[in-house]
Amino acid sequence: MRIAIVGLGAAGSAALLEAARAGFEVVGFEQFEIGHELGSSHGASRLIRRTYPDAFHSRWMGPAYEAWARVEALMGEELFVKCGGLTFGPEDDATLRATCDALVDCGIAHKVLSREGVAERFPAVDIGKGAVGIYQADSGFLRADRCVRSQVEAAKKLGAVVHERCEVIEIVEKNGGVTVVTDHGSERFDAVVVTAGPWVGRLLPGLRLPLRVMLRQTIYLGVDDEGGFTPGEFPVWIHHPTDHYGFPSDGVLPGIKVAWHHGGPEFDPSLPDRPVMEEFSDSVRDHARKHVAGLTGEVVSAKACLYTVTPDERFILDFVPGSRRQIVCSGCSGHGFKFSALLGELAVVMARDGRVPANAEPWSLARFR
Ligand SMILES: Cc1cc2nc3c(=O)[nH]c(=O)nc-3n(C[C@H](O)[C@H](O)[C@H](O)COP(=O)(O)OP(=O)(O)OC[C@H]3O[C@@H](n4cnc5c(N)ncnc54)[C@H](O)[C@@H]3O)c2cc1C
Repeated sequence: MRIAIVGLGAAGSAALLEAARAGFEVVGFEQFEIGHELGSSHGASRLIRRTYPDAFHSRWMGPAYEAWARVEALMGEELFVKCGGLTFGPEDDATLRATCDALVDCGIAHKVLSREGVAERFPAVDIGKGAVGIYQADSGFLRADRCVRSQVEAAKKLGAVVHERCEVIEIVEKNGGVTVVTDHGSERFDAVVVTAGPWVGRLLPGLRLPLRVMLRQTIYLGVDDEGGFTPGEFPVWIHHPTDHYGFPSDGVLPGIKVAWHHGGPEFDPSLPDRPVMEEFSDSVRDHARKHVAGLTGEVVSAKACLYTVTPDERFILDFVPGSRRQIVCSGCSGHGFKFSALLGELAVVMARDGRVPANAEPWSLARFR
């Protein structure tokens, strides 16, 4: 079987590796170079957690952790840093309560901690008066840049062919196959997986996908003593209701990374730059200083990145309507990296079997009709 993967960010690199591992003849197309900084998957880290305010995502995180473990085992490389995670906010916050309910529903071990309990476990964190924290030990971060590059490299070693700086212009299905038309020529395949992230709407205009591409950014804040912020000494964290979040030191860039899930304009991915917005850097820093002790107050670095957001913030994993050869795996809505190893695996299984996996209906295209 010949499979094409269009777009080699988080989801595409995972699909490429899975197809190569399964023994398919696989070709990956990437319009820029592997690891570029114009899409959604660049940077040293991405949060991974089971703590979702709905059981659907919490449940799928079980297979997602297993998929990452398979990738790590294949590569003999640490990609997931488990350091424990804290989700905190006012005790009556609706998202916090829904998160607790989902953890209970799915039988996922966790602890609810008071302000004092959190301070005892993580002295640098003050969740604030009247707040509670949910501690979940499996949370941590993925080494994002490494995940993408290593999966592509491992796939190549298994026989995958990768065309960088090669833009796919069109996908044409006829006579029992699909032709991938690029700016360098055309190739025929049995199936194609489209993992084009922010560009998926442009590549598949006929689907009229209701997606919004948003500019978001992350910043690194200076710390007095890096030793107090190593993974385990310091957790990954999320604050509700504001949806600010942060990381321990990742050993790649100085300081600690913090970000805000919201804020930032709609953005045209065909523009050449990803501008950093100072007003957001300042407000994210000010929020972090309310809850984290030992910060110098300096924004050490900042980087912008794109979200591709569906109306319900659920991903897209489905066949193009009327086809069993074209799979769309996109619309990761700012929280898809942790699922990407799993999404890549599922997309390749769909290409092989011609069937949507069980329990994946919430990711279907039918919900937009
Ligand atoms: C600031 C920020 C913070 C985030 N934090 C987290 C987090 O903590 N945890 C988490 O789980 N998720 C997080 N996410 C979301 C996560 O990073 C994304 O959901 C994920 O990276 C999306 O990957 P993707 O492969 O769908 O898209 P991309 O990484 O954008 O990959 C798409 C690729 O397709 C290529 N492409 C597109 N069109 C074509 C074409 N026509 N021909 C050839 N190539 C093409 C592009 O060049 C690109 O390389 C965050 C995202 C951002 C921006």
